[in-house]
Order: sequence, then C-alpha cells, then structure tokens
Amino acid sequence: MDLPVDLPPFRPGEVWLVGAGPGDPGLLSLLALHALRAADVVVYDALVDERVLALARPGAARENAGKRGGRPSPQQPDISRRLIALAREGSRVLRLKGGDPFVFGRGAEEALALAEARVPFRVVPGITAGIGGLAYAGIPATARGANAALAFVTGHDAAGEVPDSFDWAGIGTAIPVLVFYMALQHLENIASRLIQAGRSPAEPAAIVSRACTPAQKVIESDLAQVARAAREQGAEPPAMLVVGEVVRLRGRLDWFRPRGAP
Ligand code: SAH
Repeated sequence: MDLPVDLPPFRPGEVWLVGAGPGDPGLLSLLALHALRAADVVVYDALVDERVLALARPGAARENAGKRGGRPSPQQPDISRRLIALAREGSRVLRLKGGDPFVFGRGAEEALALAEARVPFRVVPGITAGIGGLAYAGIPATARGANAALAFVTGHDAAGEVPDSFDWAGIGTAIPVLVFYMALQHLENIASRLIQAGRSPAEPAAIVSRACTPAQKVIESDLAQVARAAREQGAEPPAMLVVGEVVRLRGRLDWFRPRGAP
C-alpha cells in the first residue's frame, strides 16, 4: 500500500494479530490498514466494526471466528488451530480483534499457540475500548488532581461470573478510576462489592455503551444507582462501567456527536 512510511511486508504464512480499535475506522493504526489491504484471509471477532471489515482487500476471504461454517461459537483452541492451518497453507492471515488484541481479547492464548506451532506472527496493538471509548465519551482516563492511577478490570471470569479471585477491597480502595469491561450483566453485583469495599455510593459512575460508533450512548449516574440507570435507560452491549471522579469532567468535555445526533 502506498503510505509515506516504511511498513513491514505481510509475508505468506504469517499471522498478524491486529487490534481493530473500538469502532470508528479512523482509529485504526497504519499497520492495521496495511494488513487489511494485504491479507488473504481475515479471521474476525463479533466486536469488529463492519466499517473496518469493509477496508479489507476485496479478494480477501473473511471468516467470522464467532460462527464458522454456520456452527456456533467455536472453542478457543479451534480458532488457534484454524489460524495455524491457514498459515501453513501459505496464506497471509489477519486475525482481527476488537480494541487491542492483548486486552481481555484472548489474544495471548492465540499468540502462545502460534509460538508453540512455530508460525511466524506479529502483534499490532489497537486502541482498547477503555482508552478510545472513554475519550469518545468525554471522560479522560487520567486528569491532574483527579487520579494518579487507573485499572482495567474484567466484569466476568472464564465462567461468566464476577471474578472472586481478585482483591476487591484492595482494588476498591486503592485505585481511583476503575474501568470494567464485560460488566453489563453484573452491574448490581460489581457496584455492591465496591461499596462494601468502602467506595462511596455517591461516587460518579457511567456506562459507556457502543462507544466510537454512531450508536454510542453514555449513561451518567453514581455507584449506588448505576445498575438501575442502565436498566431503565436500556444500556446495550458492548459496554463498560467507569467509576471515578473523572466521570464528572464529561459535563464539560462531551464532544462526540454520533451521526444523526443533534
Ligand atoms: N480487546 C477488547 C476488549 C474485548 S472484551 C479491547 O481492547 O477493547 C469485550 C468488552 O470490551 C465488552 O464487553 C466491553 O466491555 C468492551 N468494549 C469493546 N468495544 C466496546 C465499545 N465499542 N464500546 C464499549 N465497550 C466496548
């Protein structure tokens, strides 16, 4: 592709594990665009925006890793095996994931499988929802005076439950801004654990839903009310829960107008 920077060639037999960002195609990296234009096959996840997929080379094959060959949800080892098989056939394989491939995306498992199979691979980071989605919601991830740290936390574990394995009291009290991914189904539970851990029920909280897309919606509330607000206002996945004083800055920084919005 004709870009005024030196980009590495996408060689047959390689797998590129690429982050597609949180939605808006403008947030793709040059490497991601280069990979989309060069790939022979694109294996993508449900979170990847249609507008990003539309940038793939017209001749490229597309495989939805969520639903292959009409069968529902292949298991993770199946996806890794598929990537290895495609690479061994000599294809340029683009594994496209929403956000960043190494943030709650199981990209690490796929990369480990490729490494073990000695398939050459490259990782192209993407803008994770916790960064890009917050920015489009007008919520700075850090702001001087508000927070000196933040945490990305998963709202559910491999079994789909609120994780028990981490230190709720520690996270709840030590980290001033918390961004929960995959939290929509467990909002009530997450909020009450944080309050039990000593967090103020009045602390600002927001649901950032379908960020960086024309359907973006942000629901502002406080920790005690956020689950009810999400229910009443119909928060849709994918969505994140953001807890912290930085949420208040949205009152002055809400800049993004999804297309069609006033
Ligand atoms: N690898 C991805 C995260 C995958 S986990 C990344 O780095 O962003 C899936 C979770 O990501 C969703 O449940 C949701 O919490 C969050 N997410 C992904 N895209 C989003 C979007 N456009 N808007 C809001 N949340 C999003």
